[in-house]
Formats: sequence, structure tokens, C-alpha cells
Amino acid sequence: MADDAAKAAFLAKLKEFEGREVGTQDGADEVNQAMIRHWVEAMGDRNPVYTDAGAAERSVHGQVIAPPVMMQAWVMRGIAPPSRGPGNAQDELMALVESEGFTSVVATNCEQEYDRMVHLGDHLRNRTVIDSVSEEKATGLGVGHFITTRVEYETLEGEPVGRQMFRILKFRAGTGRQAASAGDGEEQARPKRPRPALNRDNQFWFDAAKEHRLVIQRCTGCQALRHPPRPRCDKCGSYEWDAVDASGRGTVYSFVVNHYPQVPSFDYPLAVGLIELEEGTRLVANIVGIDPSEITVGMPVEVEFVDHDADLTLPAFHPTK
Ligand SMILES: [Zn+2]
Repeated sequence: MADDAAKAAFLAKLKEFEGREVGTQDGADEVNQAMIRHWVEAMGDRNPVYTDAGAAERSVHGQVIAPPVMMQAWVMRGIAPPSRGPGNAQDELMALVESEGFTSVVATNCEQEYDRMVHLGDHLRNRTVIDSVSEEKATGLGVGHFITTRVEYETLEGEPVGRQMFRILKFRAGTGRQAASAGDGEEQARPKRPRPALNRDNQFWFDAAKEHRLVIQRCTGCQALRHPPRPRCDKCGSYEWDAVDASGRGTVYSFVVNHYPQVPSFDYPLAVGLIELEEGTRLVANIVGIDPSEITVGMPVEVEFVDHDADLTLPAFHPTK
């Protein structure tokens, strides 16, 4: 089809941007207490290592640190940034996708990695590279392309501080699934179950579910089990972990039965339980194989796995037989 050929040619043009340098930017200000204070007040973060010099000195940091997630704030371009000049890769890429009607934008992912803490007086710079541009995707918002940029942060002296992957979706307004299904009245395929937000901290758990294994994250420092997955042990503070297989047996700690609002990818009434595993951790999962009106707190349950589609398998729990 001519349409497919045009799409392929457009995608080839987009792919030429992958790996292209957008540029470097120096932070307008050194890392300073005033900006930190405004940030933590806005976020409601009362950790004294950010604002109390005495407390910070007695902490493992030995001095005031900036909240790590503020990294981006130290090198923002401002609300009306000056032009990056002709031939800038990011500006060219945006103009190109917009020329094909993908004019709407939404930010979809942001991941940060930190190499070290940032201190008062550090002066940061960043360097931005276009990491990837996806093929055309149909999303709930509309048809579009995902654009991922990688931003490296370092001090003006060249010491690495961290990096950020930032992804946006540039899409055509009015081409989303809801708009499409309002169209010709043809029966639509049932929409897939919403995707979990996967990241490097929780991927292992969903990968295990695909293999029909229910696993629990375990701290290798103190052996404490924890769920949902997270990077750090809240018992001993260790970042080292592995995972163990759960027996799959537990009890209903709490539950709700959903009737409304109804989302097309689920069956109703929808029973959602907080299941306490016999290992002691709890997880949220559907309760199946029983009339929802008969579910009780404390009921013994056992895991089964539901392959919702090719990419998503989730545990569910049925009454122990
Ligand atoms: Zn631990």
C-alpha cells in the first residue's frame, strides 16, 4: 500500500535523528539553599538533610545535599528559553513530526539515575542526545510516535552526576481509541487490560508472572521479604536483593467488589483482593472462581495465573480447594 510506503519513508527520516546531539546547557545558578527550600516545601519533604546544616553534618552525607530528583531543576532552560539556533536536532525533529500532523504532546516516562549526591555550590551542566524515536503507535490518546531523549548531568568540572531518560508521545489529536470506537458502530476488539508501569525495580516480578511464578523480593542483607518491589530495604537500608518463590497460598486480608465505573477491559463485578501470603507479604490481585458476594476476610486462597494477552500475565487468587 502507498500509505505503508509513505509511513516507512517517514519512519526512516525519524530514525535518522537517533543518536543525534541536541546540545549542552549550563545551569543558570549554582546548587543553592534557596531553590532547595522552595522545592522541598512544594513537595512536602521534611528530610532535614536538605535544609538543616547541623542535621546534614551529622548524617552520612556530612553536608547539605539537594534532593536527587531535583537534578533536572538545576539545568532547566526556563519558561521562555532562547532559541537553540538553526539546525538543532530536537527542534528539527519536532518540526518534522508536527509536519505530519503529530502536533499534540504528552510526557509519558521519566527515569533518573544518580552517580552521586549534589551539594551546595556544585554547578551543573547537561548534555542532551536523542535516544530513540518509535514507529507509529496506536494509543488511547491517539496515533503517534514516542520520542526518548537522554540527558547526562555533570558538574562544570566534568564530574558525572547522573542521567535522565525522558519520553514524550507526539500524537494526532482525535485519533485515540475512544474517538475511533465512536465512529462506525462496528464491533471493536476488546481493549487490552491496562499495562503495569514497568521499570527496572519491578520488571522481575512481572517477568516471573509470565512464567507462572509468584515471587517475592528479598533483601540479601537481612533476608526481609518485601512487596511491592522497591530498590531499598526499609528494615536495614540495603540495596542488594534477590527474589524467592512464594508458595502461592495465603488469605484474603481485605477486598473490594467493583461495580462502577466499568472499564471495557475488565469483567464486572470485579473482585480485587489484598492477599496476605503465608510468607507475610501482601499483594493486590483479582479474586476469581467464587461469586464475589461470597468472599470473606480471612478466606484461604491459592494463586493461579491469568494470561490476559501475549504480553501480560497476572496472578489471581481462588478459594483453596
Ligand atoms: Zn534488609
